[in-house]
Amino acid sequence: MAIRLKTLNPLSFATMITIAGSIQLKKGKEQSAKRHHPWIFSGAIDSKTDTLNDGDWVVVMDAHKTILGYGHFHHGTIAVRILHFSKEPPGPQFWKEKIMAAHLQRKSIGLPSSSTNAYRLIHGEGDGLSGLIIDVYNEVAIIQAHTQGMHREVSHIVEALRQLLADQLSAIYFKNPPSHQSNEKDGYLFGKSSVPHIIREAGHQFLVDWESGQKTGFFLDQRENRKLLAEFSKGRKVLNTFCYTGGFSIYALQAGAAEVHSVDTSEKAIALTRENIVLNGFDNEKNPSFAIDTFGFLSDKKDCYDLIVLDPPAFAKHKSAKHQAMKGYQRLNAEAFRIIKSGGIIFTFSCSQVVNRQLFYDTIVSAAIQSGREIKVLHHLSQPGDHAVSIFHSEGEYLKGLVLYVE
Ligand code: SAH
Repeated sequence: MAIRLKTLNPLSFATMITIAGSIQLKKGKEQSAKRHHPWIFSGAIDSKTDTLNDGDWVVVMDAHKTILGYGHFHHGTIAVRILHFSKEPPGPQFWKEKIMAAHLQRKSIGLPSSSTNAYRLIHGEGDGLSGLIIDVYNEVAIIQAHTQGMHREVSHIVEALRQLLADQLSAIYFKNPPSHQSNEKDGYLFGKSSVPHIIREAGHQFLVDWESGQKTGFFLDQRENRKLLAEFSKGRKVLNTFCYTGGFSIYALQAGAAEVHSVDTSEKAIALTRENIVLNGFDNEKNPSFAIDTFGFLSDKKDCYDLIVLDPPAFAKHKSAKHQAMKGYQRLNAEAFRIIKSGGIIFTFSCSQVVNRQLFYDTIVSAAIQSGREIKVLHHLSQPGDHAVSIFHSEGEYLKGLVLYVE
């Protein structure tokens, strides 16, 4: 559905932003901010911060008091997230301008369209709004605030969304990230919609439940990779592990896979996968889904699949867990190399932000050595353009994948 932008009366939406204090950086610590990297680490700060509260707007200055920008303060390792790189403070149209810029970028990559009505509108730092995620599912926007600063701004964000996307949105839902300590409850901030809700992605239909589902309800970040999987699926027997709502399974079926098996530990995810299989006109008996741990499922298999998808949850959410995570990826991939048929294809992913592309690649190489099989790299995969990455914030590129051919 095309979005019509409402003509705005500038007086109808004015948000005054109050700057609560200033942050002065130590000499030489201004370089990353000058290059528009949004994070200021606490160790780079020279001024006192005790009077500031989490979520306050602050002005950030270098050691010579030259203004670098404005952002949200937080008592933590990332002390400031700069949202506005300018000498002038953010103006009353700040939220509207940011969301409009993101909206225009999505439009430039054809989102939404008649075949895809679910997409990420705001992807944190990629859209200059560190701490904020907004996913749009047809007529409903889901807001996730990952920082206290963004929590405080929710009413302004809702107002901006309603003004800009008035013709598209019938509801806006607020959802806390799982580990977030917040007094605010999940719920509708505007309108109401029932769940599960049917969305369209590349012509396929999926049930999405943002109220009780994982993340905002659907993994939009695999859209392009699912399309690529479809190209490899015809006639193949496919195993989709960590399937959640069965995204990869549906694309494989639609593209003519001989049979698709889906695996996830969550009973709820498997129930959704089964519903999605029926919703798209396929048969659950021929394409069974298993609520079981992937490692357990793989342990007694051998030579039975032509195409395997490995899309585990982030094995490492923090740097401290990185080593354990690498072991997890190695074990998982070694298992897939052990069981896949000769001439088979593996789509393997990592969505851990702390595991960079090189480290992920090296881990797959270790698993390949362990398996003793000949393996070729066919594609390097990433996240789609609505999960935008600022060129100045490479940490934003969290999704890494490889398509492998196993001889
Ligand atoms: N591929 C999915 C997204 C995967 S999210 C998509 O395209 O939508 C990761 C999934 O892994 C979650 O659904 C979670 O329930 C599942 N999961 C976590 N640990 C698991 C395990 N050990 N075995 C199987 N599934 C697991």
